Amino acid sequence: MTGQEIKELCVKKQITFIPHHDCAICGEYTGWYLFGSWPPYEVAYSSSCGCGFRDHAEPDTWDSIAEWVCNSNGELRDQYKWLNDN
Ligand SMILES: [Zn+2]
Repeated sequence: MTGQEIKELCVKKQITFIPHHDCAICGEYTGWYLFGSWPPYEVAYSSSCGCGFRDHAEPDTWDSIAEWVCNSNGELRDQYKWLNDN
């Protein structure tokens, strides 16, 4: 998948958050927040979780989400359910 395809999918499904991984301590997901006008989205990656260690989001790109999805290759089924759920 390309970044553009991910973006189109998110617009179609009105997704506002893409989970990356769940915190081993609190179980809350870090991930990408989608924001901005609807569409096009902007994305930011936030590594903060319920533990509150960090509360910071870095601007990121659709391509880096696409890269992550391709690299995880089906191993992170829960994390990318958003791709398949209707
Ligand atoms: Zn946590």
